[in-house]
Amino acid sequence: MILRVFKYGSEVLRKKAEPVIQFDDELRKFIKDMKETMIQYNGAGLAAPQVGVLKQLFVAGIPENYEDENSPIQWYVFINPKITYYSKEVETINEGCLSFPDLFFPVTRSSRVTVEFQDEFGVKNVMDAEGFLARVIQHETDHLNGILYIDRISPLKRSLLKNKLKRFQSV
Ligand SMILES: [Zn+2]
Repeated sequence: MILRVFKYGSEVLRKKAEPVIQFDDELRKFIKDMKETMIQYNGAGLAAPQVGVLKQLFVAGIPENYEDENSPIQWYVFINPKITYYSKEVETINEGCLSFPDLFFPVTRSSRVTVEFQDEFGVKNVMDAEGFLARVIQHETDHLNGILYIDRISPLKRSLLKNKLKRFQSV
């Protein structure tokens, strides 16, 4: 089932998500719907608050090979994630967000992170991630804390986006 994606200006995007406690079929059905929704809108990641659910959960789908547009997608599900390590080394890369359709701009983030999380059955995991996946993990974890990628750029750069942002707030 394709879920409604809330756009910038929706209050739910600014709220803190609650931990997931029940790892049941209902949760797994919701995760399936989130994956379908992400594919529908061509995203690389989708956090539960973006579909109006204040739960600490996000999905990520990264093509195994970027050069090939038919490349299979490697899926990841992160529940109750905590980033326990951010590398000092950073990268600045163009980022988008399904809550801001067609708005891409460079964001500086750590190139590597370590994340502790649970899977859809509640099993605890730890992952070291780098490159694009590390970026998605940081972007989506921010969503669980009500933080958006426009908060990660300087006020000067943000003011340059002002007119483009107005477009979303009127929706
Ligand atoms: Zn986003």
